[in-house]
Amino acid sequence: MAVTSLLIKHATVLATMDDAGTEIEDGGLYAVDGWIEQVGSTSDLPDDADEVLDLGGHAVIPGLINTHHHFYQTLTRAVAQDAGLFDWLGVLYPIWARMTPDDVAVSTQVALAELALSGCTTSSDHLYLYPNGSSFDDQVRAAQTIPLRVHLARGSMSLGESKGGLPPDSVVEDEDRILTDTARVIEEYHDPSPGAMLRVNVAPCSPFSVTPDLMREAADLARTHGVQLHTHVAETLDEEGFCIGLFAMRPVELMEDLGWAGDDVWYAHGIFVDESEIGRMASSGTGVTHCPTSNMRLASGIAPLRGYLAAGVRTGLGVDGSASNDGSHLLGEARQAMLLARLAAAGEDGPFFSAREALRLATRGSASVLGRDDVGSLEVGKAADFTAISLDRIGYAGALNDPLAAVLFAAPVTVDYTYGHGRAGVSDGELVGIVLPRLLEEHNAASRRLLG
Ligand code: ZN
Repeated sequence: MAVTSLLIKHATVLATMDDAGTEIEDGGLYAVDGWIEQVGSTSDLPDDADEVLDLGGHAVIPGLINTHHHFYQTLTRAVAQDAGLFDWLGVLYPIWARMTPDDVAVSTQVALAELALSGCTTSSDHLYLYPNGSSFDDQVRAAQTIPLRVHLARGSMSLGESKGGLPPDSVVEDEDRILTDTARVIEEYHDPSPGAMLRVNVAPCSPFSVTPDLMREAADLARTHGVQLHTHVAETLDEEGFCIGLFAMRPVELMEDLGWAGDDVWYAHGIFVDESEIGRMASSGTGVTHCPTSNMRLASGIAPLRGYLAAGVRTGLGVDGSASNDGSHLLGEARQAMLLARLAAAGEDGPFFSAREALRLATRGSASVLGRDDVGSLEVGKAADFTAISLDRIGYAGALNDPLAAVLFAAPVTVDYTYGHGRAGVSDGELVGIVLPRLLEEHNAASRRLLG
């Protein structure tokens, strides 16, 4: 393939998110074949490239990275509006049980498109039920139509109601089948190389929907293949009660007992953890995804974000599934993280969780949670994954004394450009290669059918 170069220039501010937090005025970068070769002031960069993008009047940030989602839940937003997690699941499981392979595909496309428009260039997903013949492959095929990097989890549930679990028996799978299929999809799709567009994770759903045996065997399988492990942990007091009642252990303690601690593991939520558990997560290298909107929507609780960061726990950001957010707006989620951290610090003196800390959480923090050192900052040797946001909009009027802070403090916007590995995903505010009205029509028809 021919070598292609990309030059972006004249960004009002370019936030690199490097270790020093360097921000460059009139900034830009030069990339070759999707890898950054230079970052700096426009005057210090080459004059020309195969593709040149003048980003005068824009803030440029590293592409945002989402570390927890359930794409299929875009089909069931604004459902079970007054329920906490277990009751919410009780309403939704039977609806999700009607999903078809086409539903998996269209919801994957809508979620990725929505994420891209919110500045995201890398997203994980956690699909843990495969009803009516749907498969991991349906999701892969759909994801490949939208130019984002994806970390797709082969999720699973095996502990149905009749065996003491929460989900109905109709949506759980046989454990041998889960493990066989998980090994198959890792071998078929996982790309460990730098710059990979598709990686596979192993992700039994939660302590209340799979057996301890499956958790242990899934961890062994993931480690045999060198892929990451992901699950829900310490999300609600209901879950804590379930773990203590059945196993006489708190959720984090149970996961450690099952082999689920280490730098290849990350939990979603991690709300109900004590200081010693945070300390153990830091020393084992276990990561966590903060999902502020979902935690507020389901009245679950507030995760100790600043406690995790202070202890050195790998901590990233996630929108969580769209039935409990109910959006896939990652820039908006970074704002929620900033605001919720301030609420959690009510009565304390500052400094409060800052716009730049929120941005770091959604970029460097999330990259570390996904085990990636090739994305998350705009530095030489990293992939050219970035997002550009026009500052010429009503919501930023009066905030241009600090354009980067404006992007977090002001109301969330859809972004103007995203580039992933040097290729445009969003250009001039529009998704590249996607006919959005047609996609939304298909998606809404699927949602109407599911909700009956
Ligand atoms: Zn979740």
